[in-house]
Amino acid sequence: MTSLTFHGAAGTVTGSKYLLEADGAKVMIDCGLFQGLKQLRELNWKKLPFSPATVDNVVLTHAHIDHTGYLPRFVKDGFRGKIICTPATKELVKLLLLDSAKNQKRDANYANRKGISSHQPAMPLYGTPDARHAIKKLRDVPRQKWYQVAGPIWIRFHDAGHLLGSNMIEVEIRNQEKPLRLLFSGDIGRYDAPLYHDPSPPPNCDYLICESTYGNRDHADTDVLDMLEERVNKAIARGGVILMASFAIGRAQQLIYLLQVLMHKGRIPEFPIFLDSPMAVDATRIFKQFSEDHDLSEGRLSGRENVLDGPNLTLTRTVEQSKKINQVKGPAVIISSSGMMTGGRILFHLKRRLSDARNTIFLGGYMAAGTRGRRLQQGDSHLRIHGKDIPVKAAIDSISGLSGHAGKSELLQWLAALPRPKRVFITHGEKQSSSAFAKSLRQDYQFETVIPKLGEKFELES
Ligand SMILES: [Zn+2]
Repeated sequence: MTSLTFHGAAGTVTGSKYLLEADGAKVMIDCGLFQGLKQLRELNWKKLPFSPATVDNVVLTHAHIDHTGYLPRFVKDGFRGKIICTPATKELVKLLLLDSAKNQKRDANYANRKGISSHQPAMPLYGTPDARHAIKKLRDVPRQKWYQVAGPIWIRFHDAGHLLGSNMIEVEIRNQEKPLRLLFSGDIGRYDAPLYHDPSPPPNCDYLICESTYGNRDHADTDVLDMLEERVNKAIARGGVILMASFAIGRAQQLIYLLQVLMHKGRIPEFPIFLDSPMAVDATRIFKQFSEDHDLSEGRLSGRENVLDGPNLTLTRTVEQSKKINQVKGPAVIISSSGMMTGGRILFHLKRRLSDARNTIFLGGYMAAGTRGRRLQQGDSHLRIHGKDIPVKAAIDSISGLSGHAGKSELLQWLAALPRPKRVFITHGEKQSSSAFAKSLRQDYQFETVIPKLGEKFELES
């Protein structure tokens, strides 16, 4: 008997947690945190309807916190098994879980100061010791190799092209002559994306569990290099410094890569790049360590061994080094986090650079309501930083087209060669997105589709 229960990313994009059971063996695929609106975040506090102690092992598609961020709590609540992932994912998960523990503490402190918590006092979901316990359970398994996770459950990783180390997971339940086959898509990346390989073709399966983040829309059809060249040259013409707000893992490395490629092709002038974020510096080290895991072909064309290196790139870790960047005059690029300017070192750079009309601030993609990033995006004349109102004189621009998620057409392209599975479970999408994607799969490919509800369990037949 084989069953699959959806404990997250059901009707929403976050909290990925799927429990796979076969002949008494129990395996969790992903163990993510719910993020975003309060009603979603509160789900992290709801006890799971099974004891983590009964789960044999966890398998991770990739390192993003909506796929891994519940692990420290899972371990705190009794999970004793191993956490299986690819080598690059293992390194990124270490960084992300420790950072997540810090964020949990910060949020709890904030709620207590403001008196806005329903728990008195507000507690963090987990602490740094819990994150460390989870990290100790990480075991790496290479791609393309079959691995027995528990009982009859075997898995094999294939590159999903979404983030360094990211995968789709092929599963075989080997308890009868013809094994039952499942495919968990994880998050599917884009075709021809900077830095990542194209997603691997999907292996045949009886049941597909497919994400639908962009199930109802496509990305704008712009060439990222053209877009960045135009924006950067415009910013340089203003005579100041370019400050880029970026997520520390993935986005920051893509930006460095794209800037280096443009410089080597002579499409933008050579200038210094500063990466000022300890976490982004650690992540860049991991990207360099796993260079076979990403596609540096553009950089290799221009004769560089590793475009995440170079005499023009300064990685700063200490506060002292960070302060020195204050003396830098343009043209130069400072990349710093957090991406939506809710905290981190970017705030010190904003305080220094925002009131000078020669400078340009680049925002990357989506900015959540209430963040400083959103305020700049909507054209506020002042920004409050560390208790001071700073006038916004610098130009505000944004960089688009760097999403790590396949758009609708790319998801359909990925599935084009897949023989019809018995059923497709559509997960990891807002309601409209999942239903639109289900409709496309029924119409274009005659797939049978289901959008599971949170907590819903399905028996899988071979
Ligand atoms: Zn992801």
